[in-house]
Amino acid sequence: ERMMASEAGSYDEQFELSLRPQRLAQYIGQHKVKENLQIFIEAAKLRQESLDHVLLYGPPGLGKTTLAAVIANEMNVNVRMTSGPAIERPGDLAAILSSLEPGDVLFIDEIHRLPRAIEEVLYPAMEDFCLDIVVGKGPEARSVRLDLPPFTLVGATTRAGALSAPLRDRFGVLLRLEYYDNTSLAEIVVRSSHLFDVEIEQVAALEMATRSRGTPRIANRLLKRVRDYAQVLGDGMITEGLAKQALELLQVDPRGLDHIDHKLVTNMIERFRGGPVGLDTLAASIGEERVTIEDVYEPYLMQIGFIQRTPRGRVATHSAYEHFGYEYPQQT
Ligand code: ATP
Repeated sequence: ERMMASEAGSYDEQFELSLRPQRLAQYIGQHKVKENLQIFIEAAKLRQESLDHVLLYGPPGLGKTTLAAVIANEMNVNVRMTSGPAIERPGDLAAILSSLEPGDVLFIDEIHRLPRAIEEVLYPAMEDFCLDIVVGKGPEARSVRLDLPPFTLVGATTRAGALSAPLRDRFGVLLRLEYYDNTSLAEIVVRSSHLFDVEIEQVAALEMATRSRGTPRIANRLLKRVRDYAQVLGDGMITEGLAKQALELLQVDPRGLDHIDHKLVTNMIERFRGGPVGLDTLAASIGEERVTIEDVYEPYLMQIGFIQRTPRGRVATHSAYEHFGYEYPQQT
């Protein structure tokens, strides 16, 4: 597997890399996505063609990067990883594309952040596997077409709607990743524990799953911290009691909410009487970007039924009041 240097960066990244499943069969949860991919991969292999371009979308930390590497493994090809903001000039992308080997996977994270001029290099590359290069300047300038090997672009974004229509239309396969249910998350925690050589009780794994916001990346980070407690305070084994104690000491919210979730909901309750409040007003009131709230925070809060979307704006629900210790106003 070939990866760009940035992939092997910090300790946290190394840690995440070490936990990545390599095969579709090891990739937990996301059954619909896996079932579809399995068929497309098998069909492409039977035809001895490269896999169609794949767009993965959904909230951060759900395993889009992992899945891109899994796809490459299943196709027996290399994966090249980069991201929208990392590609600054059309030439950067041209260089990456022309270095691919037949069938390779090119993964572009945050693909919605590709500048338009660079997106345009992608169109002929995705469609006809070629590059249109302009050589010369001024009246002498002419366009030269270079052939590329067939490849698979795997793009990742938080929202399919954030992509320009012409780019989105060039993906043959669109797959939406969902928040993981607690059973799948607990399975991921148990799997990661095994890889760490740490014993864990099933109930402890479930307790950690419940506090992971439906997100494997968070589940693995929690495990890393709870493991420290187990080694220092216990005998290394993560029991239910120890997990609960550690999570309490770590001040992890019982639903896995972080301080921005807190700020968002308590603001709705305190300053807007629970809503309805418009997204822009809400964003301004807590100093976050509208898109961040829309793509990262709101989806999970809606999933657990703390926020509802109404035609007049966002509304905090009864459960949200309860969770944050507010009295629900009497309806008039
Ligand atoms: P994003 O969706 O934002 O790209 P990501 O793909 O970067 O998130 P990863 O780093 O791939 O998230 O996943 C975070 C961690 O969760 C990884 O260490 C990986 O091991 C683990 N993980 C993610 N999805 C799964 C899964 N389906 N089964 C097992 N482990 C998973």
